[in-house]
Amino acid sequence: MKSQHYLSSIKGSSRCLTLALAVGTLLASFAVSAASVEEVRLWRAPDHTRLVFDLSGEVEYKLFTLSNPARVVIDIEGSSLGGDLSRLDFNESPISGMRSAIRDENTLRIVIDLGAQVEPRSFTLAPNSEQGDRLVVDLYDESPSANAPRSTITNSSNSTSAPRSDERRNIIVAISAGHGGEDPGGIGYDGKLREKNITLKIARALFDQLERMPGYTPIMIRDGDYYVELQRRSEIAREERADLFVAVHTDWYRTSRANGLTIYALSGDRADRENSRRVAQKENNADLLGGVGGDLDLSSWDDDVALTLVSLQMAWSMEQSLIAGTRVLESLDGVTRLRRDKVQQASLEVLKSPDIPSMLIETGYLTNPDEARRLNTSAFQQKLARGIAQGVMNYFYDAPPEGTLVAWQKSNGIVPLPGIYMVKRGDSLSVIAQRYNVRLAELKSVNSISSNTIHIGQELTIPGVGTAEPEEHTIRRGETLSEIAQRYQVSLGSLRQANNITNDRIMVGQILKIPAS
Ligand SMILES: [Zn+2]
Repeated sequence: MKSQHYLSSIKGSSRCLTLALAVGTLLASFAVSAASVEEVRLWRAPDHTRLVFDLSGEVEYKLFTLSNPARVVIDIEGSSLGGDLSRLDFNESPISGMRSAIRDENTLRIVIDLGAQVEPRSFTLAPNSEQGDRLVVDLYDESPSANAPRSTITNSSNSTSAPRSDERRNIIVAISAGHGGEDPGGIGYDGKLREKNITLKIARALFDQLERMPGYTPIMIRDGDYYVELQRRSEIAREERADLFVAVHTDWYRTSRANGLTIYALSGDRADRENSRRVAQKENNADLLGGVGGDLDLSSWDDDVALTLVSLQMAWSMEQSLIAGTRVLESLDGVTRLRRDKVQQASLEVLKSPDIPSMLIETGYLTNPDEARRLNTSAFQQKLARGIAQGVMNYFYDAPPEGTLVAWQKSNGIVPLPGIYMVKRGDSLSVIAQRYNVRLAELKSVNSISSNTIHIGQELTIPGVGTAEPEEHTIRRGETLSEIAQRYQVSLGSLRQANNITNDRIMVGQILKIPAS
C-alpha cells in the first residue's frame, strides 16, 4: 500500500549546539526567556505539512505570510537556531526551502520559501512526559490536488467489482488507526514500541481482510505516519457514508501486569462517565497533543437541545454500537485474553458520531512485555484482524443494511465465504460444514482433523474458497453475471471467458464454471 508520508529530522551537530548554547547565554541578558530551537521535524500528511520546532523553553513568536514569492515568516523572540535547516527533506511538500537569520540582535527569523499556496496555522505545545516545549506550524494545501484528504482513503473498489449506483451497494467500514505523526500514543515497556505504529499495522491487516470480502469496502482514516484530528476522523467517516466506525488502539497501565483486550462502544449514558473519563485520559489526550483540545469535558451531553435533536439517531447507533462490539468481542474470544467479557460503554470524542455505530478496540497492553511482543508480531496482528473482520461480518450478516450486497446474499441464503473460519464458542464441525454447504468429511480432511474436537479460536480452512479447483454455480432468478463474479471474487472478464459468454445474457438454471480466482 502506497503511503504518502515521510519524516525528516535534523539534530544539530555538537558544534552547532555549543554555538547555540553560547548565543543563548549571551541573549539571556537581553531577554527574559531565551529559548533555542533545538530540532526541526517535518511530516507530510495528505492535506497539510506539519513542522514541529523543538524548543528549549517557552517562546513568544509571530507568524505572517509574504507574497511574490510566497513565503511564511516566523519571528521567534530571544531565540537562536541549533540545527541545520538545509538538511530537512522537503520532497512532496509545498516547501522549496528554509532559511534563518538573527534580526534586531535577538529575534530569530525563519523564512519558509513556498512552491505552492498554503494556509498556515500555528500553535505552541507545553512540555509533556515525552517531549519539551514545541512550536507547531501546519501548512494546509490551498488547492485540492493529488494530496487532497480523499487520497488518503484507500478505496478497495475497482472497475470490475465496484457496484454501480443502481446495483447493490457495499457496506463501508471506516478503520481509524489510533494516534500518528507527532502523537506516538502509548510507549511500550521497553521505551521503544510506539502505539501509533502497531495500530497502523493492525488497521492495515483489518483493511486487507475486509477488502477481500465481496460486499465490503474498507476505508483507512489514517494510512501513514501523520496525525488526523479526532473530529476530522469522524468527519471522514461521515463523508464516506460509513456503516461502521472501528478505532484501533493499544492500552497502557502503570504496572506491567495489566493485560487483555477491551472494546468500548458509543454511549451517551451518565453511568458510563467513569469509563469515559478513564479512556479519555489515555486516548483523548491525543487530541490535546495535536493542539486542538480534546473534549475532556463530557458535560456536553447535558445539552438538552442537542440531545433532543440527535436522540433518535443516537439511540439507534448506540444500540448498534453495542451489538457490533459484542459480535467482535465474541469472535475474538480465544484469539486473545478478554479483559472484560462485555463491551464497555464510553462517551468518547473519537466515538462521537451520533449517526454511525462506533467502537474503540484496545487490542492489548504495550506496558505488558509478553503482550507487547505479541502485538508487535505480524502473525498476531493478522489473527486480531481476522477476528475483528469476522465479528464485523457476523454483525452485518445478522441485520444487513437495506440495499447492500450482504442483504441480498442473506435473502438468497448465501453465507459469505471468508475462506478461513475462526471457531467460536458453541460451534461444532457439523454446524460449520452445514453453514458453508461443504461435506463434513471434506472439511475435516482439508484441515487434517481426525476427531470431531475443535477449540475456540482455531482457524479452519473452508474448502472451495481460494483453491484451484473449478467450481460451478447454478444461476438463480434475479442474479447477474457481475454479482456472481463478485461473490466468487473473480473478474467479470474471466467469468465470461470461462463460460464462452460474449454478451451478458444468462438464464435461470444455467450452470456456470467459476474460474480459479
Ligand atoms: Zn491509543
